[in-house]
Amino acid sequence: MKARSKDELRHMRAAGRVVAEMHEKIRAAIRPGVTTADLDAIGRTVIDNRGATSNFLGYHGFPAVICASPNDVIVHGIPGAVVLKEGDIISVDCGAVVEGWHGDAAFTAGVGEISPEAARLIAVTEASLDAGIAAMVEGNTLGDIGAAVQAVVEAAGFSVVREYVGHGIGRAMHEAPEVPNYGVAGKGGKLKKGMTLAVEPMVTIGEPDTFLSEDGWTVLSADRSWAAHFEHTIAIGPNGPEILTRP
Ligand code: MG
Ligand code: MG
Repeated sequence: MKARSKDELRHMRAAGRVVAEMHEKIRAAIRPGVTTADLDAIGRTVIDNRGATSNFLGYHGFPAVICASPNDVIVHGIPGAVVLKEGDIISVDCGAVVEGWHGDAAFTAGVGEISPEAARLIAVTEASLDAGIAAMVEGNTLGDIGAAVQAVVEAAGFSVVREYVGHGIGRAMHEAPEVPNYGVAGKGGKLKKGMTLAVEPMVTIGEPDTFLSEDGWTVLSADRSWAAHFEHTIAIGPNGPEILTRP
């Protein structure tokens, strides 16, 4: 990956701000009785109001601007008539494009009151992303990111999903290199200043194995244990990581 120029980073910050606003508005709407289609509609409104475009809608035929993945769905759930109920958790992943540059980020939230275990799953997954981001320093490696994420998740007794990984991001949503959420510190490609990566731990309470539902999109945990997903688009800056998808 070539180092992003100042102008390119400026566009990626703009795309990141749109994604952050989608998150903020969708998060505020999550409550019992809301459908995942309602959340998608909120995302569409933000994209339209900001003059951005969606990198999710039409991606290999994906029909929505967000992925909405409740409970045992890990990623890539299709928004629709599913009604959120008290005690559920819901992972929302979305992105936006500004001037041809991409942002991509995800979060998991509880619906109303959730169990202590579900709350711990969400907190640990977010903390694992924070740990991965902290490792995004020039001279470190992709293995340092993965090892940092994995250490937090496994210390909590949860599992890191292996079959889906983070990625480079820029002119396209998914660029090289792949960014696994597991690994060995010091191994893998070197991190360089000006790189832009999406780091996105997917964590299950039970086993890490996944299966794809008949719709061809929805990825569930094989043991049907609940899953959480957090993601940011991050630039490796001169003074450490810069999160582009945080307001
Ligand atoms: Mg991503
Ligand atoms: Mg994403």
